[in-house]
Amino acid sequence: MTATLTQQPIYTLACDAPDCGATFEAKHDFDQGSDRATRRAARRAGWDVPPPRGKGSRSPYDFCPEHKRR
Ligand SMILES: [Zn+2]
Repeated sequence: MTATLTQQPIYTLACDAPDCGATFEAKHDFDQGSDRATRRAARRAGWDVPPPRGKGSRSPYDFCPEHKRR
């Protein structure tokens, strides 16, 4: 018998704009294994997420493509 991992940890990003309930989940397994990979995938999808390093240079908030600031 072989044990199989059937439930991956899946990270969800939520837009921080007021009154916006948009969320993002990585669609591919290889993007779901960590929060960093999920954030990379979100950025590829047009989300405005601060880079994992470089604290202070940008806001700590995440925004969906509709509310991104630039
Ligand atoms: Zn939003």
